[in-house]
Amino acid sequence: MTPRFAMAVDTVRCVGCNGCVIACKTENALPEGCFRDWIAEETSGTFPDLRLQIRSERCNHCVVAPCVDACPTGASHVGEGGTVLVTASKCTGCKACIASCPYGARAVHPQGHVDKCTFCLHRVKRGLLPACVEVCPTRSLSFGDLSDPASPVSRLLASRRFTVLQPGAGTRPQVYFLT
Ligand code: SF4
Ligand code: SF4
Ligand code: SF4
Repeated sequence: MTPRFAMAVDTVRCVGCNGCVIACKTENALPEGCFRDWIAEETSGTFPDLRLQIRSERCNHCVVAPCVDACPTGASHVGEGGTVLVTASKCTGCKACIASCPYGARAVHPQGHVDKCTFCLHRVKRGLLPACVEVCPTRSLSFGDLSDPASPVSRLLASRRFTVLQPGAGTRPQVYFLT
């Protein structure tokens, strides 16, 4: 069966240590000011009954990806396992994809092309986990193939409550937030 890569982010376990952010920067040699993942904090409820959710965010590798549709050169495309990728050599830096992404998941690299999370496909192809998943000290991050019911992500989604960011955007995100 065709693989469908996805990530689960456990918002109960995450402590916001930024380990995933540093690991990503190191693994992908991102220059100063460039990030492919980041930590979001969201407070809900009414004082004094408040709740703080900390979560690690990145490109959602959407099944319906407006960034791919918006790209005039084909630089933004769908790769292995449904991963949404950018071919730097085809990217003109026009920023149409940045404007179309509801999640702010893309940024311009100092070299002029658009940059974003790749699900660390270069590692996954070698049988390794994405760098952020590998390094997380609280095991908040899980990665795997949703077409395999035995994969870590499939198991988590079968047993936990989860949500996605901006479900109303119609993009069918493939990063799931466990609550
Ligand atoms: Fe949260 Fe893990 Fe990232 Fe730390 S490394 S911020 S615990 S997801
Ligand atoms: Fe594209 Fe944004 Fe979805 Fe990533 S999160 S696939 S950049 S629309
Ligand atoms: Fe960065 Fe790789 Fe994690 Fe994506 S999967 S946020 S590229 S470390």
